[in-house]
Amino acid sequence: MSDIFNNELFEAFGSASDNVYIYVCDMKTDISRWSKAAVDYFGLSGEYLEDAANVWGRHVHPDDLKIYMDDITGVFSGQKKYHDCQYRARNASGGYVWVECKGSVIRDAKGEPIIFAGLMTRIDGQSKYDTLTGLLTTHEMHYFDFSSQPGIALLIGLDGFRKIVSNYGYNVGDEILIKFSREINKLCKPGWKVLRFSGDEFLVIAFASNLEEAEGFYGRVCQETDIVKLEDGRKVGISISAGGALFPQDADTREILINKLEHSLEYAKNNQRGSLVFFSEEIARRHERGLVLREDLKQCIKNGFKGFELYFQPFINPNAGTIAGCECLLRWKGERIKDSYPMEFIKVLEDYGDIQEAGFWVMEQAIRQQAAWRDKYGELKISFNVSYQQFIDDAFEEKAISCVKKYGVNPNYIIIELTESCQVEAPKELAAIFGRLREQGFRIALDDFGTAYASMEMLKWLPVDYIKVEHSFIRELAQPGHDIDYVIVDSLMEMCRRLGYHSIIEGVENSKVADIVGGLNATLLQGYHYSVPVCRKDFEKLLDEDRIMSLSLEV
Ligand code: C2E
Ligand code: CA
Repeated sequence: MSDIFNNELFEAFGSASDNVYIYVCDMKTDISRWSKAAVDYFGLSGEYLEDAANVWGRHVHPDDLKIYMDDITGVFSGQKKYHDCQYRARNASGGYVWVECKGSVIRDAKGEPIIFAGLMTRIDGQSKYDTLTGLLTTHEMHYFDFSSQPGIALLIGLDGFRKIVSNYGYNVGDEILIKFSREINKLCKPGWKVLRFSGDEFLVIAFASNLEEAEGFYGRVCQETDIVKLEDGRKVGISISAGGALFPQDADTREILINKLEHSLEYAKNNQRGSLVFFSEEIARRHERGLVLREDLKQCIKNGFKGFELYFQPFINPNAGTIAGCECLLRWKGERIKDSYPMEFIKVLEDYGDIQEAGFWVMEQAIRQQAAWRDKYGELKISFNVSYQQFIDDAFEEKAISCVKKYGVNPNYIIIELTESCQVEAPKELAAIFGRLREQGFRIALDDFGTAYASMEMLKWLPVDYIKVEHSFIRELAQPGHDIDYVIVDSLMEMCRRLGYHSIIEGVENSKVADIVGGLNATLLQGYHYSVPVCRKDFEKLLDEDRIMSLSLEV
């Protein structure tokens, strides 16, 4: 056997890395030697191969074979100085990975090729280290055996990271990720591993002995990272949530573990922001329900919105005590899930890009209903809810305008409520949309006003007609110890008066609260005290009774 193979250097280089592989070929005998890592990773028959160009050729992706063959024959014939090309190669598990293959030929005095040697680097994006944070990548998980040594895995995600990036820019986003990863690394015990899982998610594989130890670790991460100091001296407040799972109890393979961690993190973000939530059957059940909801909602939209229905909750004119209009609230019954509330299914519609379509349906039904009631009940003020995401859809304004035209409705009687104003990322653009809609005659309301600082901030930017006071200030107004709520609501009413806004007080649940808010000069009142949201037929009954009552008062 040729000396070129019996070289300790070959072994030393060959074992230096597990994603760079070396090979050397005696071109006289056409026998080559491949490093042990290459044999294992690509599933070669052994370290020594005969006719390697063809044997290896069978590992090359068929679509890339020509590139590989052209390059290698060019080098052997002397047309090309170096072998240098990238292609996909099949590994031991049958998948293809991208490799960069480089090599050169050594020739004898007569110019005959005697040795071909080179290296192959895996560039399949599964590199061992993350280029931004320097942490291990998830590829590393292939090497853990989750079935033997017990431990706890935590998937930690930054809350609202997209918003941080949109507020501060990509560079700050990167700086936060780097600093955050360093902090977690510092807090880990020896032997624990931290991996960059995805953009803003980090996986900690903790060989912790109990849940308390993992919870203690998570608590310290929260404490140490709640404020990130940037290089330029600015400070950014961040919050995190985490999902946890035990191995091997909850999961003994990489796939199952990732699955359970992702579900637990999703649950934490949606229901217990800021907390570490361990996987449970309840989480699995909720996740399953989420999947069914998603499918059923898509199906329902495809079937011409079958299963959707509008409910109506009256707006009361506080002076006359009569029904001045209503808020239209979406209800939905799926094929399999019949008890989903708007808070749940609207979030699913929003998260999966269906809220626009569903929202147009709501808008059309609401406007159509306003027209349908006009002859019998006069002009009613009809409102419907629209999220920021819906407003900024290019088609929204046009649809709203064409819809009032189609049904011959005066847009002065249509109130469009902006829900969750705290999610407004581009207030100037939204202000322009509001401006144009108001020019057309539509009325705009800021919903749930007073809950977030953002509400006040929004008022400075957005031209609106109505403020809807969030019901948490109202519901318990009559109970002892809620004087502060009264002061807040009273001040909001004063603010509306001075700034020329109309107001709607919602959440009026009983007669005591009704008496209190009755003296606050709100434009409209709304709440269970007057009526819960009801279906069209029941709302028409309310309107009938209301009209009979007001007629008898007039007499
Ligand atoms: P919201 O706009 O704040 O709607 C008012 C919610 O308060 C309604 O819940 C209503 O049933 C409830 N409510 C009314 N009076 C009272 C009361 O006196 N006390 C209490 N505790 N609650 C009262 P609902 O119908 O479950 O709607 C929840 C949320 O779903 C709405 O909150 C709104 O943000 C959203 N939503 C409903 N329909 C639509 C829609 O068509 N599009 C969009 N984007 N969001 C909608
Ligand atoms: Ca609303």
